Amino acid sequence: MSKQETKPVELSLYKAHEKIYPREIKGRFQFKRKLAVFILLGLFYFLPWISWEGQQAILFDLPQRRFHLFGLTLWPQDFIFLALMLIIAAFSLFFFTALAGRLWCGYACPQTVWTEVFIWLEQLTEGNRNKRMKLDNGPWNSEKIIRKSSKQFLWIVFALWTGFTFVGFFTPIKELAAHVMSWTLGPWEGFWLFFYALATYGNAGFLREQVCLYMCPYARFQSAMFDKETLIISYDEARGEPRMRGKKRRETEAPGDCIDCTMCVQVCPTGIDIRDGLQYECIGCAACIDACDEVMEKSGMPKGLIRYTTENALNGKPTHIFRPRTIIYMIILLGLVSAFVLALFGRSSIDMNVIHDRNSFYRIVDANTIENVYTLKIMNKGTTTAQYQVSASGIEGLDVVLGMHETVIAAEPGQLVIVPIKIQADKQQANKKIQTIEVTVNQVGDDNAGEAASEKVKYFGYKK
Ligand code: SF4
Ligand code: SF4
Repeated sequence: MSKQETKPVELSLYKAHEKIYPREIKGRFQFKRKLAVFILLGLFYFLPWISWEGQQAILFDLPQRRFHLFGLTLWPQDFIFLALMLIIAAFSLFFFTALAGRLWCGYACPQTVWTEVFIWLEQLTEGNRNKRMKLDNGPWNSEKIIRKSSKQFLWIVFALWTGFTFVGFFTPIKELAAHVMSWTLGPWEGFWLFFYALATYGNAGFLREQVCLYMCPYARFQSAMFDKETLIISYDEARGEPRMRGKKRRETEAPGDCIDCTMCVQVCPTGIDIRDGLQYECIGCAACIDACDEVMEKSGMPKGLIRYTTENALNGKPTHIFRPRTIIYMIILLGLVSAFVLALFGRSSIDMNVIHDRNSFYRIVDANTIENVYTLKIMNKGTTTAQYQVSASGIEGLDVVLGMHETVIAAEPGQLVIVPIKIQADKQQANKKIQTIEVTVNQVGDDNAGEAASEKVKYFGYKK
Protein backbone atom coordinates (compact mmCIF):
# COMPACT_ATOMS: atom_id res chain seq x y z
CA MET A 1 0.00 0.00 0.00
CA SER A 2 1.51 3.27 -1.08
CA LYS A 3 1.43 6.12 1.32
CA GLN A 4 0.20 9.38 -0.10
CA GLU A 5 2.45 12.27 0.82
CA THR A 6 0.66 15.06 2.68
CA LYS A 7 1.92 18.58 2.44
CA PRO A 8 2.01 20.58 5.71
CA VAL A 9 -0.55 23.34 5.68
CA GLU A 10 0.38 26.68 7.19
CA LEU A 11 -2.37 28.01 9.36
CA SER A 12 -2.07 31.45 10.88
CA LEU A 13 -3.91 32.03 14.14
CA TYR A 14 -3.12 35.72 13.92
CA LYS A 15 -5.49 37.98 12.05
CA ALA A 16 -3.50 40.65 10.26
CA HIS A 17 -4.62 44.17 11.05
CA GLU A 18 -6.64 45.77 8.30
CA LYS A 19 -6.39 49.51 7.95
CA ILE A 20 -9.66 51.31 8.61
CA TYR A 21 -10.70 54.19 6.40
CA PRO A 22 -13.56 55.89 8.24
CA ARG A 23 -15.88 57.79 5.91
CA GLU A 24 -16.36 61.49 6.66
CA ILE A 25 -19.76 62.28 8.09
CA LYS A 26 -21.64 65.37 9.18
CA GLY A 27 -24.47 65.51 11.66
CA ARG A 28 -25.59 66.80 15.03
CA PHE A 29 -23.43 64.43 17.06
CA GLN A 30 -20.36 64.98 14.92
CA PHE A 31 -20.84 68.72 15.42
CA LYS A 32 -20.86 68.18 19.20
CA ARG A 33 -17.77 65.99 19.00
CA LYS A 34 -15.91 68.59 16.93
CA LEU A 35 -16.94 71.25 19.42
CA ALA A 36 -15.60 69.09 22.27
CA VAL A 37 -12.32 68.59 20.37
CA PHE A 38 -12.06 72.32 19.74
CA ILE A 39 -12.69 73.25 23.40
CA LEU A 40 -10.52 70.55 24.97
CA LEU A 41 -7.55 70.99 22.65
CA GLY A 42 -7.98 74.76 22.82
CA LEU A 43 -7.65 74.56 26.60
CA PHE A 44 -4.64 72.27 26.37
CA TYR A 45 -2.71 74.47 23.94
CA PHE A 46 -3.82 77.81 25.37
CA LEU A 47 -3.76 77.35 29.18
CA PRO A 48 0.02 77.20 29.70
CA TRP A 49 0.35 80.63 28.05
CA ILE A 50 -1.91 82.35 30.61
CA SER A 51 -0.22 84.30 33.41
CA TRP A 52 -1.78 84.76 36.85
CA GLU A 53 -0.37 87.11 39.49
CA GLY A 54 2.90 87.40 37.58
CA GLN A 55 3.51 83.70 36.95
CA GLN A 56 2.27 80.90 34.74
CA ALA A 57 -1.29 80.11 35.80
CA ILE A 58 -0.87 76.33 35.64
CA LEU A 59 2.61 75.03 36.32
CA PHE A 60 3.80 71.76 37.84
CA ASP A 61 7.12 73.11 39.09
CA LEU A 62 8.87 69.80 39.80
CA PRO A 63 12.36 71.18 40.68
CA GLN A 64 10.77 73.49 43.30
CA ARG A 65 8.27 70.76 44.22
CA ARG A 66 5.22 72.96 43.95
CA PHE A 67 2.15 73.19 41.76
CA HIS A 68 0.74 76.57 40.75
CA LEU A 69 -2.94 76.66 39.94
CA PHE A 70 -4.39 80.12 39.23
CA GLY A 71 -2.73 81.81 42.23
CA LEU A 72 -2.98 78.77 44.47
CA THR A 73 0.30 77.03 45.33
CA LEU A 74 0.17 73.39 46.34
CA TRP A 75 3.11 71.62 47.99
CA PRO A 76 3.91 67.92 48.42
CA GLN A 77 2.22 68.22 51.85
CA ASP A 78 -0.99 68.99 49.95
CA PHE A 79 -0.94 65.53 48.37
CA ILE A 80 -4.45 65.02 49.76
CA PHE A 81 -5.81 67.40 47.09
CA LEU A 82 -4.24 65.37 44.30
CA ALA A 83 -5.56 62.17 45.85
CA LEU A 84 -9.04 63.72 46.14
CA MET A 85 -8.91 64.92 42.53
CA LEU A 86 -8.05 61.42 41.31
CA ILE A 87 -10.83 59.86 43.40
CA ILE A 88 -13.30 62.44 42.06
CA ALA A 89 -12.17 61.67 38.49
CA ALA A 90 -12.66 57.94 39.10
CA PHE A 91 -16.16 58.40 40.55
CA SER A 92 -17.10 60.81 37.76
CA LEU A 93 -16.15 58.08 35.30
CA PHE A 94 -18.27 55.53 37.21
CA PHE A 95 -21.22 57.93 37.43
CA PHE A 96 -21.23 59.09 33.81
CA THR A 97 -20.61 55.57 32.49
CA ALA A 98 -23.54 54.19 34.49
CA LEU A 99 -25.67 57.11 33.28
CA ALA A 100 -24.66 57.57 29.67
CA GLY A 101 -22.29 54.77 28.65
CA ARG A 102 -19.07 55.64 26.89
CA LEU A 103 -19.51 59.42 26.84
CA TRP A 104 -15.88 59.81 27.92
CA CYS A 105 -14.57 57.64 25.08
CA GLY A 106 -16.65 59.30 22.40
CA TYR A 107 -16.21 62.94 23.34
CA ALA A 108 -13.38 63.62 25.78
CA CYS A 109 -10.74 60.88 25.87
CA PRO A 110 -7.35 62.28 24.73
CA GLN A 111 -6.99 59.31 22.38
CA THR A 112 -10.27 60.18 20.65
CA VAL A 113 -9.61 63.91 20.64
CA TRP A 114 -6.11 63.72 19.14
CA THR A 115 -7.09 60.99 16.69
CA GLU A 116 -9.79 63.32 15.35
CA VAL A 117 -7.15 65.92 14.52
CA PHE A 118 -4.80 63.39 12.92
CA ILE A 119 -7.65 62.04 10.77
CA TRP A 120 -8.60 65.57 9.81
CA LEU A 121 -4.99 66.27 8.72
CA GLU A 122 -5.06 63.01 6.75
CA GLN A 123 -8.24 64.03 4.97
CA LEU A 124 -6.74 67.41 4.24
CA THR A 125 -3.69 65.94 2.50
CA GLU A 126 -4.94 62.63 1.09
CA GLY A 127 -8.59 63.39 0.41
CA ASN A 128 -11.79 61.55 1.27
CA ARG A 129 -12.19 57.85 2.09
CA ASN A 130 -12.25 56.63 -1.53
CA LYS A 131 -9.23 58.72 -2.49
CA ARG A 132 -7.28 57.50 0.54
CA MET A 133 -8.03 53.85 -0.28
CA LYS A 134 -7.09 54.40 -3.92
CA LEU A 135 -3.90 56.18 -2.93
CA ASP A 136 -2.84 53.38 -0.57
CA ASN A 137 -3.53 50.68 -3.16
CA GLY A 138 -1.92 52.60 -6.02
CA PRO A 139 1.75 52.71 -7.07
CA TRP A 140 4.26 55.13 -5.57
CA ASN A 141 4.04 58.01 -8.03
CA SER A 142 4.79 61.71 -7.54
CA GLU A 143 1.24 62.45 -6.31
CA LYS A 144 1.41 59.70 -3.70
CA ILE A 145 4.84 60.87 -2.52
CA ILE A 146 3.70 64.50 -2.23
CA ARG A 147 0.44 63.64 -0.44
CA LYS A 148 2.01 61.15 1.95
CA SER A 149 4.98 63.38 2.80
CA SER A 150 2.66 66.40 3.33
CA LYS A 151 0.61 64.32 5.76
CA GLN A 152 3.71 63.14 7.59
CA PHE A 153 5.03 66.69 7.77
CA LEU A 154 1.77 68.02 9.29
CA TRP A 155 1.52 65.06 11.68
CA ILE A 156 5.09 65.53 12.89
CA VAL A 157 4.71 69.31 13.35
CA PHE A 158 1.47 68.81 15.27
CA ALA A 159 2.99 66.04 17.42
CA LEU A 160 6.02 68.22 18.23
CA TRP A 161 3.77 71.14 19.14
CA THR A 162 1.82 68.81 21.42
CA GLY A 163 5.05 67.58 23.06
CA PHE A 164 6.23 71.16 23.49
CA THR A 165 2.91 72.18 25.11
CA PHE A 166 2.95 69.17 27.41
CA VAL A 167 6.44 70.02 28.69
CA GLY A 168 5.22 73.63 29.02
CA PHE A 169 3.01 72.50 31.93
CA PHE A 170 6.18 71.46 33.81
CA THR A 171 8.68 74.10 32.69
CA PRO A 172 7.71 77.78 32.28
CA ILE A 173 6.51 77.69 28.68
CA LYS A 174 7.92 81.08 27.70
CA GLU A 175 11.40 80.00 28.85
CA LEU A 176 10.91 76.70 27.06
CA ALA A 177 10.01 78.53 23.84
CA ALA A 178 13.19 80.62 24.17
CA HIS A 179 15.22 77.42 24.68
CA VAL A 180 13.66 75.86 21.59
CA MET A 181 14.31 78.97 19.48
CA SER A 182 17.95 79.14 20.58
CA TRP A 183 18.49 75.33 20.42
CA THR A 184 19.46 75.24 24.11
CA LEU A 185 16.95 72.69 25.37
CA GLY A 186 18.03 70.89 28.53
CA PRO A 187 18.38 67.08 28.35
CA TRP A 188 15.16 66.39 30.30
CA GLU A 189 13.14 69.03 28.49
CA GLY A 190 14.37 67.64 25.15
CA PHE A 191 13.70 64.05 26.15
CA TRP A 192 10.11 64.64 27.30
CA LEU A 193 9.30 66.93 24.40
CA PHE A 194 10.31 64.29 21.85
CA PHE A 195 8.95 61.42 23.92
CA TYR A 196 5.50 62.99 24.19
CA ALA A 197 5.58 64.01 20.52
CA LEU A 198 6.37 60.41 19.61
CA ALA A 199 3.60 59.12 21.88
CA THR A 200 1.09 61.48 20.25
CA TYR A 201 2.21 60.54 16.74
CA GLY A 202 2.22 56.83 17.55
CA ASN A 203 -1.12 56.69 19.38
CA ALA A 204 -3.21 59.16 17.38
CA GLY A 205 -1.58 58.86 13.94
CA PHE A 206 -0.38 55.30 13.70
CA LEU A 207 -2.22 53.07 16.21
CA ARG A 208 -5.54 54.97 16.41
CA GLU A 209 -8.43 52.57 17.11
CA GLN A 210 -5.96 49.83 18.11
CA VAL A 211 -5.28 51.74 21.35
CA CYS A 212 -9.01 51.52 22.16
CA LEU A 213 -9.31 47.90 21.03
CA TYR A 214 -6.20 46.33 22.50
CA MET A 215 -4.59 48.69 25.01
CA CYS A 216 -7.28 50.58 26.89
CA PRO A 217 -8.38 48.80 30.10
CA TYR A 218 -11.53 50.92 30.38
CA ALA A 219 -13.05 49.23 27.33
CA ARG A 220 -12.72 45.89 29.13
CA PHE A 221 -14.24 46.73 32.48
CA GLN A 222 -16.88 49.27 31.45
CA SER A 223 -19.43 46.49 30.92
CA ALA A 224 -19.35 46.00 34.71
CA MET A 225 -20.73 49.55 35.04
CA PHE A 226 -23.45 49.07 32.43
CA ASP A 227 -26.95 47.91 33.24
CA LYS A 228 -30.23 47.74 31.34
CA GLU A 229 -30.87 51.45 31.99
CA THR A 230 -27.51 52.74 30.78
CA LEU A 231 -27.64 54.95 27.72
CA ILE A 232 -26.02 53.09 24.82
CA ILE A 233 -25.83 53.57 21.07
CA SER A 234 -27.89 50.80 19.58
CA TYR A 235 -29.46 49.62 16.37
CA ASP A 236 -33.23 49.07 16.63
CA GLU A 237 -33.38 45.50 15.42
CA ALA A 238 -37.15 45.25 15.71
CA ARG A 239 -37.56 48.17 13.34
CA GLY A 240 -34.59 47.52 11.03
CA GLU A 241 -34.96 43.80 10.30
CA PRO A 242 -35.30 42.10 7.92
CA ARG A 243 -32.68 44.32 6.31
CA MET A 244 -32.52 44.24 2.54
CA ARG A 245 -31.82 46.39 -0.44
CA GLY A 246 -32.32 46.77 -4.19
CA LYS A 247 -34.63 44.44 -6.10
CA LYS A 248 -35.20 42.13 -3.17
CA ARG A 249 -36.35 45.06 -1.09
CA ARG A 250 -38.71 46.30 -3.77
CA GLU A 251 -40.22 42.86 -4.12
CA THR A 252 -40.70 42.23 -0.41
CA GLU A 253 -43.97 43.27 1.15
CA ALA A 254 -42.78 44.44 4.55
CA PRO A 255 -39.01 44.90 4.66
CA GLY A 256 -37.31 46.31 7.72
CA ASP A 257 -36.24 49.95 7.71
CA CYS A 258 -32.54 49.06 7.29
CA ILE A 259 -31.72 49.37 3.59
CA ASP A 260 -28.39 47.59 4.19
CA CYS A 261 -26.41 50.50 2.75
CA THR A 262 -23.52 49.83 5.22
CA MET A 263 -23.01 53.55 5.77
CA CYS A 264 -23.01 52.92 9.53
CA VAL A 265 -20.10 50.50 9.07
CA GLN A 266 -18.18 52.78 6.71
CA VAL A 267 -18.16 55.72 9.13
CA CYS A 268 -17.20 53.63 12.16
CA PRO A 269 -13.67 54.50 13.32
CA THR A 270 -13.24 51.06 14.89
CA GLY A 271 -14.62 49.21 11.86
CA ILE A 272 -17.50 47.39 13.58
CA ASP A 273 -21.09 46.83 12.53
CA ILE A 274 -23.38 48.25 15.20
CA ARG A 275 -26.17 46.04 13.83
CA ASP A 276 -24.38 43.05 15.42
CA GLY A 277 -25.29 44.40 18.86
CA LEU A 278 -23.38 46.10 21.68
CA GLN A 279 -19.66 45.47 21.32
CA TYR A 280 -16.74 46.51 23.49
CA GLU A 281 -15.05 47.95 20.37
CA CYS A 282 -17.75 50.65 20.15
CA ILE A 283 -16.27 53.89 21.48
CA GLY A 284 -19.61 55.69 21.48
CA CYS A 285 -18.66 58.25 18.84
CA ALA A 286 -22.22 58.34 17.42
CA ALA A 287 -20.94 58.56 13.83
CA CYS A 288 -23.25 55.67 12.92
CA ILE A 289 -26.26 57.61 14.29
CA ASP A 290 -25.50 60.59 12.07
CA ALA A 291 -24.85 58.36 9.06
CA CYS A 292 -28.05 56.37 9.50
CA ASP A 293 -30.14 59.47 10.22
CA GLU A 294 -28.96 60.91 6.89
CA VAL A 295 -29.88 57.68 5.09
CA MET A 296 -33.29 57.56 6.79
CA GLU A 297 -33.97 61.17 5.87
CA LYS A 298 -33.09 60.57 2.21
CA SER A 299 -35.23 57.42 2.19
CA GLY A 300 -38.21 59.24 3.67
CA MET A 301 -38.23 57.17 6.86
CA PRO A 302 -38.13 58.44 10.44
CA LYS A 303 -34.68 59.01 11.95
CA GLY A 304 -33.42 57.03 14.92
CA LEU A 305 -32.96 53.52 13.52
CA ILE A 306 -29.60 53.77 15.28
CA ARG A 307 -29.90 55.98 18.36
CA TYR A 308 -29.01 56.62 21.96
CA THR A 309 -31.29 54.36 23.93
CA THR A 310 -31.29 51.78 26.71
CA GLU A 311 -31.76 48.04 26.71
CA ASN A 312 -35.00 48.50 28.65
CA ALA A 313 -36.31 51.05 26.15
CA LEU A 314 -35.53 48.70 23.25
CA ASN A 315 -37.55 46.01 25.02
CA GLY A 316 -40.47 48.38 25.58
CA LYS A 317 -39.80 48.83 29.29
CA PRO A 318 -39.47 52.18 31.08
CA THR A 319 -36.00 53.64 31.67
CA HIS A 320 -34.99 55.15 34.99
CA ILE A 321 -32.15 57.65 34.98
CA PHE A 322 -32.23 57.84 38.78
CA ARG A 323 -31.78 54.34 40.12
CA PRO A 324 -29.85 53.03 43.15
CA ARG A 325 -26.55 52.77 41.27
CA THR A 326 -26.59 56.31 39.85
CA ILE A 327 -27.96 57.79 43.09
CA ILE A 328 -25.17 56.19 45.15
CA TYR A 329 -22.50 57.35 42.69
CA MET A 330 -24.01 60.84 42.69
CA ILE A 331 -24.10 61.09 46.51
CA ILE A 332 -20.49 59.91 46.80
CA LEU A 333 -19.42 62.30 44.04
CA LEU A 334 -21.19 65.28 45.63
CA GLY A 335 -19.63 64.41 49.01
CA LEU A 336 -16.16 64.20 47.49
CA VAL A 337 -16.52 67.46 45.55
CA SER A 338 -17.81 69.27 48.66
CA ALA A 339 -14.92 67.89 50.73
CA PHE A 340 -12.47 69.00 48.07
CA VAL A 341 -13.88 72.54 47.84
CA LEU A 342 -14.10 72.95 51.61
CA ALA A 343 -10.57 71.63 52.12
CA LEU A 344 -9.22 73.86 49.36
CA PHE A 345 -10.81 77.05 50.69
CA GLY A 346 -10.04 76.18 54.30
CA ARG A 347 -6.45 75.37 53.44
CA SER A 348 -3.85 77.16 55.59
CA SER A 349 -0.50 78.35 54.26
CA ILE A 350 1.04 77.02 57.50
CA ASP A 351 1.73 73.38 58.15
CA MET A 352 2.91 72.60 61.70
CA ASN A 353 3.84 69.72 63.91
CA VAL A 354 4.90 69.69 67.59
CA ILE A 355 6.77 66.74 69.12
CA HIS A 356 7.55 66.44 72.84
CA ASP A 357 11.17 65.82 73.83
CA ARG A 358 11.68 62.10 74.41
CA ASN A 359 14.50 62.49 76.94
CA SER A 360 12.70 64.23 79.80
CA PHE A 361 9.10 64.86 80.79
CA TYR A 362 9.87 68.26 82.30
CA ARG A 363 12.76 70.30 83.64
CA ILE A 364 12.85 72.51 86.72
CA VAL A 365 13.87 76.02 85.76
CA ASP A 366 13.73 77.65 89.22
CA ALA A 367 11.82 77.35 92.45
CA ASN A 368 8.52 78.35 90.83
CA THR A 369 8.89 77.38 87.18
CA ILE A 370 9.10 74.19 85.14
CA GLU A 371 9.42 73.70 81.40
CA ASN A 372 8.61 71.07 78.76
CA VAL A 373 10.78 70.96 75.65
CA TYR A 374 9.37 70.32 72.18
CA THR A 375 10.54 70.22 68.58
CA LEU A 376 8.41 72.54 66.47
CA LYS A 377 8.23 72.01 62.70
CA ILE A 378 6.74 74.79 60.57
CA MET A 379 6.31 74.54 56.83
CA ASN A 380 5.68 77.77 54.90
CA LYS A 381 3.22 76.83 52.14
CA GLY A 382 2.89 80.43 50.97
CA THR A 383 4.68 82.07 48.07
CA THR A 384 6.52 84.74 50.12
CA THR A 385 8.87 84.69 53.11
CA ALA A 386 6.85 84.52 56.31
CA GLN A 387 7.41 85.23 59.99
CA TYR A 388 5.69 83.39 62.79
CA GLN A 389 5.02 83.97 66.47
CA VAL A 390 4.44 80.99 68.73
CA SER A 391 2.13 80.97 71.74
CA ALA A 392 0.62 78.33 74.00
CA SER A 393 -2.62 78.07 75.96
CA GLY A 394 -4.36 75.58 78.21
CA ILE A 395 -2.55 76.35 81.48
CA GLU A 396 -2.58 79.82 82.93
CA GLY A 397 0.59 81.85 82.40
CA LEU A 398 2.31 79.62 79.81
CA ASP A 399 5.37 81.20 78.27
CA VAL A 400 7.00 80.09 75.02
CA VAL A 401 10.77 80.51 74.82
CA LEU A 402 12.38 80.30 71.40
CA GLY A 403 16.14 80.40 70.80
CA MET A 404 18.42 83.11 72.19
CA HIS A 405 16.64 86.52 72.03
CA GLU A 406 14.32 85.31 69.28
CA THR A 407 10.70 86.38 69.20
CA VAL A 408 9.72 85.17 65.73
CA ILE A 409 10.58 82.30 63.38
CA ALA A 410 11.20 83.09 59.69
CA ALA A 411 10.66 80.66 56.80
CA GLU A 412 11.22 80.98 53.04
CA PRO A 413 8.44 79.80 50.68
CA GLY A 414 8.36 76.04 50.79
CA GLN A 415 10.89 75.90 53.63
CA LEU A 416 10.47 73.49 56.52
CA VAL A 417 11.88 75.10 59.68
CA ILE A 418 12.65 72.85 62.65
CA VAL A 419 13.28 74.61 65.97
CA PRO A 420 13.39 73.54 69.63
CA ILE A 421 10.96 75.44 71.85
CA LYS A 422 10.57 75.52 75.61
CA ILE A 423 7.16 76.05 77.15
CA GLN A 424 7.45 77.29 80.73
CA ALA A 425 4.72 77.15 83.37
CA ASP A 426 4.17 78.03 86.99
CA LYS A 427 4.62 74.95 89.18
CA GLN A 428 1.38 75.74 91.00
CA GLN A 429 -0.59 75.85 87.72
CA ALA A 430 1.07 72.86 86.06
CA ASN A 431 0.35 70.65 89.04
CA LYS A 432 -1.18 67.64 87.25
CA LYS A 433 0.81 64.73 85.95
CA ILE A 434 -0.35 65.32 82.35
CA GLN A 435 -2.35 68.22 80.94
CA THR A 436 -3.27 69.08 77.38
CA ILE A 437 -2.13 72.41 76.01
CA GLU A 438 -2.50 74.03 72.58
CA VAL A 439 0.48 75.41 70.69
CA THR A 440 -0.43 78.10 68.16
CA VAL A 441 1.64 79.51 65.33
CA ASN A 442 0.52 82.95 64.12
CA GLN A 443 1.81 84.52 60.93
CA VAL A 444 2.80 88.16 61.44
CA GLY A 445 3.98 91.17 59.52
CA ASP A 446 3.04 90.53 55.85
CA ASP A 447 0.08 90.06 53.50
CA ASN A 448 -0.88 86.77 55.10
CA ALA A 449 -0.68 88.15 58.67
CA GLY A 450 -3.42 86.62 60.77
CA GLU A 451 -3.13 83.11 59.35
CA ALA A 452 -2.70 80.62 62.14
CA ALA A 453 -2.33 76.92 62.82
CA SER A 454 -2.42 75.08 66.12
CA GLU A 455 -1.90 71.65 67.58
CA LYS A 456 -2.75 70.05 70.91
CA VAL A 457 0.10 68.37 72.83
CA LYS A 458 0.71 66.86 76.25
CA TYR A 459 2.29 68.94 79.02
CA PHE A 460 3.94 67.03 81.85
CA GLY A 461 3.40 68.84 85.14
CA TYR A 462 5.16 69.00 88.51
CA LYS A 463 3.53 66.66 90.99
CA LYS A 464 5.08 65.89 94.33
S1 SF4 B 1 -26.84 53.16 7.95
FE1 SF4 B 1 -28.84 52.59 8.72
S2 SF4 B 1 -29.86 51.85 6.89
FE2 SF4 B 1 -27.70 51.87 6.39
S3 SF4 B 1 -26.99 49.82 6.92
FE3 SF4 B 1 -26.67 51.08 8.73
S4 SF4 B 1 -28.52 50.74 9.91
FE4 SF4 B 1 -28.99 50.06 7.86
S1 SF4 C 1 -20.49 51.54 16.34
FE1 SF4 C 1 -21.15 53.65 16.00
S2 SF4 C 1 -20.81 54.69 17.94
FE2 SF4 C 1 -19.70 52.74 18.02
S3 SF4 C 1 -17.63 53.29 17.39
FE3 SF4 C 1 -18.72 52.60 15.55
S4 SF4 C 1 -19.57 54.49 14.68
FE4 SF4 C 1 -18.95 54.99 16.74
